[in-house]
Amino acid sequence: EWIDLRYVIHQSVQKVSLKAKEKGLELVVHPTKSVPFIRGDGMRLEQIALNLLENAIRYTDEGRIDVYLHHSSTMLTLSIQDTGIGIPDDELPYIFDRFYRVEKSRSRQTGGTGLGLSIVKKLVKLQGGSIHVTSRVGKGTCVSVQFVLPMMQEDQ
Ligand code: ATP
Ligand code: MG
Repeated sequence: EWIDLRYVIHQSVQKVSLKAKEKGLELVVHPTKSVPFIRGDGMRLEQIALNLLENAIRYTDEGRIDVYLHHSSTMLTLSIQDTGIGIPDDELPYIFDRFYRVEKSRSRQTGGTGLGLSIVKKLVKLQGGSIHVTSRVGKGTCVSVQFVLPMMQEDQ
């Protein structure tokens, strides 16, 4: 299946837009002119985008969530940047572990099971991609998912 990631993002953003609105958060998808299609499973890709958007909304109390898609000749990258509570450096290595939640006490109030990112990581791997997180406590978090683009056939 050839997937237009812009469409997947559009669908996922629609599904979470009410949640963002209820929290008074701006949810901005930055337009991208043309994006190469990737080979993959649309449902899986939507689950990845939805989980990351839900996290960004859940762990952000004010400000905005920016969604970017950009690509080089070999990679397509989806980035979701929030202005939320952030994740301490020493906890970053564990956030993809099953049931891991940062600072149990703070997380208890926000619901969730701690499974989202472990599932996301598996789905990204199934897509042949990779995932990276950078974060600053009190400033926000940026999660990027990279997919390898198929090699283009050169004209002879
Ligand atoms: P679930 O996704 O299963 O409903 P969850 O959101 O707690 O529950 P994960 O999505 O796996 O679980 O995230 C693990 C932990 O990483 C979260 O509990 C939270 O502490 C932290 N985290 C994830 N995304 C963010 C983010 N955007 N900003 C701040 N902390 C985050
Ligand atoms: Mg989650």
